[in-house]
Amino acid sequence: MKAAAVRVIQQALIAEGFNPGKVDGKTGSKTYGAVDQALQGRKADLPNDWLQWSNSRKTVAYLQLLCKDQGIEVGEIDGFWGPQTEFAFDTLAYFLENGLMPHPWRDETPLDVNPNGWPQQDEAQLNEFYGKVDTPQVKLVRLILPYPHRLAWDLRTTVNSFSCNVKVHDSAKRVLQGVFDHYGMERIKDLGLDRWGGCLNVRKMRGGTRWSMHSWGIAMDYDPARNRYKWGRDRAAFAHPDYDAWWRFWEEEGWLSLGRTRNYDWMHVQAAKR
Ligand SMILES: [Zn+2]
Repeated sequence: MKAAAVRVIQQALIAEGFNPGKVDGKTGSKTYGAVDQALQGRKADLPNDWLQWSNSRKTVAYLQLLCKDQGIEVGEIDGFWGPQTEFAFDTLAYFLENGLMPHPWRDETPLDVNPNGWPQQDEAQLNEFYGKVDTPQVKLVRLILPYPHRLAWDLRTTVNSFSCNVKVHDSAKRVLQGVFDHYGMERIKDLGLDRWGGCLNVRKMRGGTRWSMHSWGIAMDYDPARNRYKWGRDRAAFAHPDYDAWWRFWEEEGWLSLGRTRNYDWMHVQAAKR
């Protein structure tokens, strides 16, 4: 079991008045003994054969009970660390750290409207709508920012405008104006909504041969350091409910967040549908 999970278990045992020893993220005889004692009081929640389980299985079962106690869907209390327990643990860890449950993304449907008629993420359709990629057909224009940005990798460098596809200009500007009016500059800085990761960048997609949405100047990245490409909702900063309004402004204009819809690349938003 991962050390973070063992620490959560040890802390919970202490809170319940048991003695698992030091909170060190390592299982040992003290932790196992305390788990045994704790489970004695939870017999009603356990299958009949739990006494025959191995120490590590009992420990996982105890963690499952902790999740269940917080109303987190964990399935059967079986002491096995499968994907559901993994997800339940991530949710519990998020709750313990932040004092609130992560946004219920599995239940929530991101707003899916398309008032600007953005095309599908398909090379032919994108070339048709935005101009043929990597040619002068792609018409670019400078967007003068409603609030100053800073280069994410060099925060001392202020950015007052950037180049984008002429077709997304007005929409992106409306979004950023809305963001500025809603959050104000101080909050924008706190949340990293001014940490600019870039728009136009003619390149192929990561690990692929297809063109990145940035090639047409129709995608924007924000705060890449705190929203790494592979990070999901449990780690990405922009998955936090503080950013709900941020995403709403984009989604109302038909922009697509890969974070909100696919749970990766939370830095990125694009004017193409999938
Ligand atoms: Zn991007």
